[in-house]
Amino acid sequence: QTVYLNGEFLPLHQAQVSVLDRGFIFGDGAYEIIPVYSRHAFRLQQHLQRFAASLTALRLSNPYSNAQWAALVQTLIARQDEADQSIYLHVTRGVAPRDHAFPAGVSPTVFMMSNPLITPSAAQISQGVSCISASDIRWDRCDIKAIALLANVLLRQQAVDAGAVETILFRDDILTEGAASNIFAVRNGVILAPPKDQHMLPGITYDLVLELAAQHSVPVEIGYFASSVIRSADELWITSSTKEVLAIVTLDGQPIANGQPGPLFKRMLGWYQDYKQQVMRH
Ligand code: PMP
Repeated sequence: QTVYLNGEFLPLHQAQVSVLDRGFIFGDGAYEIIPVYSRHAFRLQQHLQRFAASLTALRLSNPYSNAQWAALVQTLIARQDEADQSIYLHVTRGVAPRDHAFPAGVSPTVFMMSNPLITPSAAQISQGVSCISASDIRWDRCDIKAIALLANVLLRQQAVDAGAVETILFRDDILTEGAASNIFAVRNGVILAPPKDQHMLPGITYDLVLELAAQHSVPVEIGYFASSVIRSADELWITSSTKEVLAIVTLDGQPIANGQPGPLFKRMLGWYQDYKQQVMRH
C-alpha cells in the first residue's frame, strides 16, 4: 500500500513518524476523509475547504493550496489497486520537544493514505440500522475535524457494544450529531436538521442532503430538537461520507415510527445515488 508522508510517496511500512510528533503526544492536528468512487474523489473541493477551515481553526498553516492537495490526492488514488477508496488526509503541528505551547520554526507533519472504501451493506440500506443515544460529552469546537477523537472513540464503542451502528448525541437534551456522522429527522414531511454551529461537524453529506432536498422542494427546518422530538419522529436518517444516507429504524431498542425505512428516506436515497452516478460520469 502506497502512502504519502512529508513530500514523498512510499510503502506504508516505510512511513515513519517520530514519537515526539505532536499528533502522537497531544492529538494536535486535523484530518479529512474523502470517499472515492471509480477513482473519482467525491466532493473534493468541499472536503479541501473544510480541511483548510479545520487547519485555520487550529492555527496550523495549510502546507498546500487546494490545487496542490487535489493533485496529491489524484496521485494517491492512481497508485492504489481498488477503484473505490477512502482517502485520509492528516496534518499535525510537527515534531518538537513536549511542551503545550506551539513550537517555533517546526514544519507540520503531512500524511495521506488510501483504504478500500467500505460502503453500507444491501441489508443496511434496505432494512435500516439501529442506533443508541448518549449525552454529548465532547468539547465546544466539534466543528473542527481534529484528530483528537477520544470522546468520539468512546461513544462509538458504546454503540458497537450494544450491537448498534452509531451513537446519537444530545447536548443538554438537544440533538447535535452522531459520534462520526450527522443526523436528520423527518416530521410531517419536513426534514429537521441541527444548525451548523460549534456543536457539530459541518458534514459534506449533510450539505448534499440539504441541497438535494432544496432541488426537490422538500421543506427543511433547521433548529434545535429535543430528544423527545427525535424519538417520536416519522423518520430518522444518519449521513456520512462512508455511510452515505441510511435510515435509523430503532433508537435505544425502541422503533422509530413503524420501525421501517420511511418514504422520504427512499426518495432521498434515490436522489443521492443519482447524484453520485452523474458525478462519476464526468
Ligand atoms: N460528524 C462527525 C463527528 C464525523 O466524524 C463525520 C464523519 N466525517 C460526520 C459528522 C459526517 O461528515 P461527512 O458527511 O463529511 O463525512
